[in-house]
Amino acid sequence: MIPVSNIRYIDFHTHRAVSGDDVITIMNLMAGEEVPSVFPGNTLYSAGIHPWQLTAENLARLKTELLLTAAHPHVVLIGEAGFDRLRGASSEIQYQAFIYQAEIATEMEKPMVIHCVRGWEELRRAYRQMKPERPWVIHGFRGKGKLAASLADDGFWFSLGMEGITDEILGAVSNDRILLETDTSDRPVAEVYHCFAEVAGCDDDEAVSIIKGNFNNLFNYSV
Ligand SMILES: [Zn+2]
Repeated sequence: MIPVSNIRYIDFHTHRAVSGDDVITIMNLMAGEEVPSVFPGNTLYSAGIHPWQLTAENLARLKTELLLTAAHPHVVLIGEAGFDRLRGASSEIQYQAFIYQAEIATEMEKPMVIHCVRGWEELRRAYRQMKPERPWVIHGFRGKGKLAASLADDGFWFSLGMEGITDEILGAVSNDRILLETDTSDRPVAEVYHCFAEVAGCDDDEAVSIIKGNFNNLFNYSV
């Protein structure tokens, strides 16, 4: 699904339905939420079982609901899905739910967007188990450079918000594995791009072209 217009920015992960003619927005849906029947042409979706909504009791229902949403042609990513040691279901249930979603992603040939809070061991275990062909993009990453470097070595991509754009992280991850996002913030995505350009030492236009190139590589698009 290729949105057509003069695209400058890609907001890789957001929970707010904001759009503009020059922005592609990937809006996150939690399992059970449906793709709206009417939405702007530049809006794409991710759909996944978030560890926060997951319980031992609702797992089966959420799986079925996700399957219905994930098949929509504007759902281009599976997730956010992942591991949270501070919130949500037990780690065993989180692991089951995650592997189920990784299988859907494989079957539908979609990349994943990952939520991970202190669950790096589980995430790496799942990665080794699934050996995904399409990238898994860790969103909202704000950890240490050393962790970023080792995750990048494993093959992970990163979607960074303002807090994740640091010398340490940009120094550890190659530019061709990076996407940018607003997540729950009210700031326009252009500000995130500007921040990335400053820390990466390039101008805004170069930042636009780097991120657009990565987005196109990820999905085989040409926007
Ligand atoms: Zn999010």
